[in-house]
Amino acid sequence: MKREGGTGDAAEGADAVHGSTAVKKEGGPKQKRKRVTVKKEKGKKVSGLDTTAEARLVDWEAAVEGLANLHPEVTSKNVARRDELLKSCGAGSSVILDAVISTMLSQNTTDKNAHEAYRNLTEKFPTWSECLKGTREEVEGLIRVAGLAATRSERIFALLETLSAEQDSEDPSLEYLRDMSNDEVKKELGRFKGLGPKTISCVMLFGMARDEFPVDTHVLRIAKLQRWVGSGATRESAYDALNAVVPDALKMDLHCLLVKHGKVCHRCAANHKPQFPPKDGPLVCPLATTKVVDVVKMELGIGVKAEGGEGGEGGGLGKKRVKAEANVVKEEE
Ligand SMILES: [Zn+2]
Repeated sequence: MKREGGTGDAAEGADAVHGSTAVKKEGGPKQKRKRVTVKKEKGKKVSGLDTTAEARLVDWEAAVEGLANLHPEVTSKNVARRDELLKSCGAGSSVILDAVISTMLSQNTTDKNAHEAYRNLTEKFPTWSECLKGTREEVEGLIRVAGLAATRSERIFALLETLSAEQDSEDPSLEYLRDMSNDEVKKELGRFKGLGPKTISCVMLFGMARDEFPVDTHVLRIAKLQRWVGSGATRESAYDALNAVVPDALKMDLHCLLVKHGKVCHRCAANHKPQFPPKDGPLVCPLATTKVVDVVKMELGIGVKAEGGEGGEGGGLGKKRVKAEANVVKEEE
């Protein structure tokens, strides 16, 4: 089977991946987005999750819009990515396996190096069955630019050999995952060395168009800064918490935007030192004014305005949607 598509380039992990299936959303940054309302689930607690009450009431739409205005190239790329996913779905494609291997190569390295490693590998071996016929040393050499070449090469071979043996086929494939539920996919991919929860989540989002919100280091840091999760949250707990509250339709854009934003914004970068500081000085961070509902006020009914729906759009609570007065999140600096 001939591989489709090439590598992208923006969000970590995400970038390296290409292709996938059903795409639910369309529209670029300039188009009016469908309003997505986060439901306040009365009396229903998200138990066992490290979610602050605020996280369930964040105006995610506003967060995405603010970030998309600042980084329009990210959302444009996602539009193209979704189109590609639609086209690439189908028999004979190696989209999911491509996504798995490119995401493996993107771990612990820069996007640029991951792309170069993936390009070297796929130029030399246009199909994974051809790669299987190569030697480990050969693969190691091709992906050396991404670092940890011996480990990565061993894992890639283990994955390809396992699939090939299980499928009694020279042409290993992961397309069978498309018939599985999200939980089944996680379990299935979790069998392979080198595929942790974040990698799997990236593969599901970018290779399979599943509604996933991967949490990487940028996403975790910004989620804590925004108080979307508690300060003690881990990547794992934040992943569970945020996946439960971020609207599905916004997951891909929000993930990619946060990864990009975390590399360029002085407020949101690690130690306020962006990896790629903007030439024109610090950006005006749209997340500094992201509105969250004041939960206490809301519960006490103080300063809470009930607003009408928005032309029937967006579902959620519709006309009963309650929009509490926004509290500007104070930066904790
Ligand atoms: Zn920022």
